Amino acid sequence: MNAEIIAVGSELLLGQIANTNAQFLSKQLAELGINVYYHTVVGDNPNRLEDAIKISQSRSDLIIFTGGLGPTKDDLTKETIARVLGKQLIFDEAALRSIEDYFKKTNRHMTENNKKQALVLEGSEILPNDHGMAPGMGFKVDKITYMLFPGPPKELNPMFLSYGAPFLLRSLGVVERIESRVLRFFGIGESQLETEIEDLIDNQTNPTIAPLAGDGEVTLRLTAKHNSLDVANQLLDHTEAEIVKRVGKFLYGYDSTSLVNELMNKLKTSKHTIASAESLTGGLFAEELTNLAGSSAVVKGGIVCYTNEVKEQVLHVKKETLDTEGAVSSSTAEQLAENIKKLLKSDIGISFTGVAGPSESEGKPVGTVYIGISYLDQPTKVFPLQLAGSRQGIRTRTVKYGFYYLLQLLNEQRN
Ligand code: ATP
Ligand code: MG
Repeated sequence: MNAEIIAVGSELLLGQIANTNAQFLSKQLAELGINVYYHTVVGDNPNRLEDAIKISQSRSDLIIFTGGLGPTKDDLTKETIARVLGKQLIFDEAALRSIEDYFKKTNRHMTENNKKQALVLEGSEILPNDHGMAPGMGFKVDKITYMLFPGPPKELNPMFLSYGAPFLLRSLGVVERIESRVLRFFGIGESQLETEIEDLIDNQTNPTIAPLAGDGEVTLRLTAKHNSLDVANQLLDHTEAEIVKRVGKFLYGYDSTSLVNELMNKLKTSKHTIASAESLTGGLFAEELTNLAGSSAVVKGGIVCYTNEVKEQVLHVKKETLDTEGAVSSSTAEQLAENIKKLLKSDIGISFTGVAGPSESEGKPVGTVYIGISYLDQPTKVFPLQLAGSRQGIRTRTVKYGFYYLLQLLNEQRN
């Protein structure tokens, strides 16, 4: 089955928005094993849309439209498809009721053109819109499957996942289930990870293994197909176990979690409190932790100790250390971590000092970073790092390393 995505909207052609719907749909279709061969973008113009439809009919078995299902005059996707296919537009009672309900609930006046959103192509299966008003549609004419989705991603994405994908699987006659699992890694580069599991990637069939990298993290998406959910999960378990054997120490979580989420959960369950002394990260660490609900139970507080003066006077780093080894040094990181822990009476003290750039400092190159961790009465650990990238990239990755080392520390405590 060869698919094509037609995104309708002049905003796309003017460069005002990016065609993220096509990206989302392509990714989803790839997971369903459907090839996408063309992305088309066409403005809100019925004649050019008609041309695009005719071209796609000559080369695709599945044509997916996004955008132009709304109430206004420039929304003309349904109308144009109806004309090209010689189909009628009819009112869908359920969609009409949900639009009326929506206006009642929000106490707004419903205008006549809002009803237009309840018009659907005759003979189509309705894909309900749980996050907006215009329903989606799916139908088949002359061996070609057509699907229509609204433009706003917050409507399209859940609609595709809840109703679009099942519609496609049914219309393809696919009985197989598709189960996927995302393994999240930190502290290992994409190329190293791929090298470690190269043979698994080369020989992948079911499950498939797809790596993706970004922001110091690497993820592997495992996707298994089988008509039994249990068997699909067993296939995933088996491949995961193979991967864990080789790179398990870098695996920190599954699916949509993040390092900071995992750390927060660990801190909560182990009932540890934490305090931070941040130089190069300027409070980013505390910001990310306190962004999460329930952080007040674990975050004591933090100090942004940007200047040597603050490091010395507030956090009592020895003058001698600052003079001889410098602010960016293992000793400074160590003292900062210990002293913030004492000062704020927490179980854990963490410190960040380093050179974010763009220019070097104290003769130390950009990307030199020290993270200190003082945990209860155990000896303080200092982790030196040499990071590459932009100022912002170095700062955000430094914070991620902090989360990662803390997670490792707390995991070790349990064993
Ligand atoms: P509405 O009922 O909101 O008018 P619609 O189905 O008519 O929805 P459009 O009017 O084409 O859709 O687009 C509405 C909004 O959806 C756009 O302003 C844009 O923010 C977003 N959007 C549309 N198409 C895309 C696309 N291909 N990729 C990403 N976002 C899109
Ligand atoms: Mg619109």
